[in-house]
Amino acid sequence: MATIVSAPNTLDVAAIREEFPILRQRVHGKPLVYLDNAATTQKPRRVLDALQRYYAEENANVHRGVHSLSGRATDAYDAARETVRRLLNAADTKEIVFVRGTTEGINLVAQTWGRANVRAGDEIVLTEMEHHSNIVPWQILCEATGARLRIAPITDTGELPLDALERLLTDRTRLVALAHVSNVLGTVNPLADVVRIAKARGIAVLVDGAQAMAHMPVDVQALGCDFYVFSGHKMFGPTGVGILYGRRALLEAMPVYQAGGGMIGRVTFERTTYADLPYKYEAGTPNIAGVVGLAAAVDYLTTIGLDRIGAYERDLCAYATAALSAVPRLRLTGTARERGAVLSFVLGDVHPHDIGTILDRDGIAIRAGHHCCQPLMTRLGVPATARASLALYNTRDEIDSLVTSLQRVREVFE
Ligand code: PMP
Repeated sequence: MATIVSAPNTLDVAAIREEFPILRQRVHGKPLVYLDNAATTQKPRRVLDALQRYYAEENANVHRGVHSLSGRATDAYDAARETVRRLLNAADTKEIVFVRGTTEGINLVAQTWGRANVRAGDEIVLTEMEHHSNIVPWQILCEATGARLRIAPITDTGELPLDALERLLTDRTRLVALAHVSNVLGTVNPLADVVRIAKARGIAVLVDGAQAMAHMPVDVQALGCDFYVFSGHKMFGPTGVGILYGRRALLEAMPVYQAGGGMIGRVTFERTTYADLPYKYEAGTPNIAGVVGLAAAVDYLTTIGLDRIGAYERDLCAYATAALSAVPRLRLTGTARERGAVLSFVLGDVHPHDIGTILDRDGIAIRAGHHCCQPLMTRLGVPATARASLALYNTRDEIDSLVTSLQRVREVFE
C-alpha cells in the first residue's frame, strides 16, 4: 500500500491496515476504498477477537451471579468502565454510563436532566451544524416543558463564531449542546471557549463527541463540560454500545431514565429505591459483549496514540483538501481552519447520490445525502452533499483513487 512520506509522527499504515480484515476485500472487482468512517468505522482484529473470546469463554450475565463465569463477565465489564474513564480522564468510574450510543446518551440527558432542570420559558442553545440526534431530543423536551430552542449561527466556511453564540445566552439559557466535530463540515468547535463562556453564566454544556473520539484525545476534566457522549462503532468498536460521561454531582441529582433490573436498590409494590451511580442509568441486561469490544477498541486507539492518529489524519485531510479542490466544479462545503477528517462536497449539478453510485462501481465507499443534518443542508443551500470521511487506515493512494473516480463522474455528466 501507499507509504506516507511527509506526515508528522508517521503511522505504519500498512501494518494498521493488516489488522482490519474487511479492508482486504474487493468491491465490484476493485480494492475497497472505505471513506465512510463518519458513518461507522471498521473493526480491527483485536476487537473482533475480544468479542469472540467473550462469547466463547466468558459469557454470563453481570452483577447478579455468584458463579465463576458471572464473576469473570462482571470483571470484564467493570474493567471496561475503568478503561473508558482513563480514555476521557474522568474523575471517577461512576461518571461513565454505558448506553447504546450517542443518540441514547443525548436522549437520556434530555429526559432526565432536562425534565428536572428545564422549565417553561427556558432556552436551550444548539448550533446550525447539529446532527438530528442533538436536535430532536431537545425539541421533544421543549414541547413537553414550554422551553424553546435558540440556534447559534455558523459562518459560510462552517465555523462557529463565539460572539454570536455569546449573544444568544440569556438568564433563561439552561444548556448549550453542540458537536465537538461536525459530521458534515468537519469543523472542530472551540469547545474550551464555549465551555468558558457558558460556565461564566452557570449554563450547562453537553458535547456530542460522536465524530471526535476516534480522532483526537479528549480530557473531560480539562474541557470542563457537564456531559460528553459518543458511540463505540465510530471508534473501531462494536455497534450498540456508547458512553455517556456526566459530572457526578449532576448524574447523582438527575431522576432515573429507564427502569427495570440492575438499576434498583430495593423494590416493594409501595416504593422503589435506586442503585448508586452508574448502575442507576443502566436498566436491564447491558450490551456486555459490546462493552468488552469497546474496551478493546479503546486499548487499540490508546496503544497507537490519539495524538499521533490526529496528526496523521490532519496531514491526510490537508492532502485530500488540496486534491479535491483541484477537481473542476467541485466545491467543498466546510473549510473551517480547525477541521477533522471529514470532507463534504458538491460537484457541479451532479446529485450526490449519483456521485456515490458511480464511485461504488470503483470500489469507493462514500456517503451521499443530508447526513442527518437537514437544518444544516438548508443553511448551506443544498439538498445533500457527498462526503468522504477518513480514518487512521486511509492513505494518500486512496485519496488519489477518489479523485480519479470523481474525474470519471464529471466525464459521465458533462
Ligand atoms: N452526532 C453526530 C455528530 C454523528 O455524526 C452521529 C452519527 N452519524 C450521531 C450523533 C449519532 O450517533 P449514533 O447513531 O451512533 O447514535
